[in-house]
Amino acid sequence: PMRLANKIALVTGAASGMGAATARLLAREGAKVAVADLMETEGRAVVGQIEAAGGEARFIRLDVAEEADWEAALAEVTGAWGGLDILVNNAGISGSATNDLYDTGLWDRIMAVNARGTFLGVKHGVAAMRQRGGGSIVNLSSISGNVGQERIHCAYNASKAAVRLLTKSVAVQEGAAGIRVNTIHPGLMPPMRTSGATADPVFRAKMLGHVPLGRSGEVDEVAQAILFLASDEASYVTGAELHVDGGYLAC
Ligand code: NAD
Repeated sequence: PMRLANKIALVTGAASGMGAATARLLAREGAKVAVADLMETEGRAVVGQIEAAGGEARFIRLDVAEEADWEAALAEVTGAWGGLDILVNNAGISGSATNDLYDTGLWDRIMAVNARGTFLGVKHGVAAMRQRGGGSIVNLSSISGNVGQERIHCAYNASKAAVRLLTKSVAVQEGAAGIRVNTIHPGLMPPMRTSGATADPVFRAKMLGHVPLGRSGEVDEVAQAILFLASDEASYVTGAELHVDGGYLAC
């Protein structure tokens, strides 16, 4: 049996990387999936892959930092499919290793997408889920939300720490509404499209030395963890942090 039969999901940043893998997996488990991203061509390609596999999906152009985009996106999803059960706040950007640590504009851009974008998703997702009597929100933090790291920009670390505590705060306050909110903390993964730091082979090799499983992760391994938190199998899990990092944070 499919684990997400009759569920309606929205995944941000779903045109690429872990978001695309998550959108495909949720659809394979029976959810109708809104593929939300800035990148229209790549996003529509993910919708095409889902449909080719027999699933149901639609592309929504969404800038997570823009509140009007969230209003339009939720109106489209609830109008088309009747509600929202699962929200994955996955869209994110990082700085590069060569960025000035004290660049105010970069701080603002990273915080706008990663922190404000997740806040807006939670705000509008919760409003839609309340009408259904509950739901599950999965927010993408990172190992970088837990510890400082060489070459990772301070704004990225700070934004991912904001996601952690935003998640716990809302989990506490929305538990009575039946809404679960959890974070996923990926470790050393394929480099982000926007990242200069984790693309650097010297940095990757150094990080690998701190990964007990001795390898970097695959996007599907993160998607599987998101699927668990999104599904009813995690019905008693809220405010939790799931590290999908090969043991990095255990060291
Ligand atoms: P990615 O760069 O491959 O994909 C991110 C997607 O988000 C892209 O499709 C991009 O277009 C979209 N996006 C960016 N800004 C947006 C905005 N304002 N509105 C809507 N969409 C936007 O990234 P990834 O590696 O798949 O990472 C996904 C998430 O996991 C991010 O939140 C990232 O911070 C986090 N993460 C990544 C790593 C890693 O090493 N790759 C590790 C830990 C955590």
